[in-house]
Amino acid sequence: VADSAVKDFILVANDPALDLLNTTPVLGQVPVEQLTSMADVADWLAAAGVLTPGQSRALAGRASSPKHAAAALTAVREFRESLRFVVNAIVLKTAIPPPAVNAVNQALRLAGGFWKIHGQPKAGRFSREFQRRSDTLLSRTLAPIAQAAAALLCDRDVSAIKKCDNPACVLYFYDTSRNRTRRWCSMQTCGNRMKVAAHYRRHHP
Ligand SMILES: [Zn+2]
Repeated sequence: VADSAVKDFILVANDPALDLLNTTPVLGQVPVEQLTSMADVADWLAAAGVLTPGQSRALAGRASSPKHAAAALTAVREFRESLRFVVNAIVLKTAIPPPAVNAVNQALRLAGGFWKIHGQPKAGRFSREFQRRSDTLLSRTLAPIAQAAAALLCDRDVSAIKKCDNPACVLYFYDTSRNRTRRWCSMQTCGNRMKVAAHYRRHHP
């Protein structure tokens, strides 16, 4: 059994919810699926900063049932495609599809819970801990992802969400440049390629 090597996740989006969309990049003209197991999902959650490394390890440790792991992986991928519909509509300035928003809301329900206070104060204060109402592999995996999506859509300026200007590239990013002039997922890859292509067109009409 091959050990799940940590993949080269693409973290160029300045936002974990957009980084999630970027887990299906086109590399060398081939569409790639980077989330092929719950181990991948757990690794990605830590790499993208959605979970701490400790939380990610704990999540991977809970994925021992192949059936539950497969269901959680499917749910993450389906959530990603719903979010992609929303983000695509934002970028294209078309109507946001209600079923896609609904899918985000369904996943957010898994994040519901309550605070529990621990029994005795220590050093002058009680401590509290958030308890999920639904504590399953699915909710532990999808809830933080849904919260990241809600943070992108509700706490940030969605007009700064962009798709890479290379038509052959499928990556999204949140433009944090001062004048909102960022055009490429990465200057090293698409930026250079597009500049070289434009240069070639200018000199070889
Ligand atoms: Zn690109």
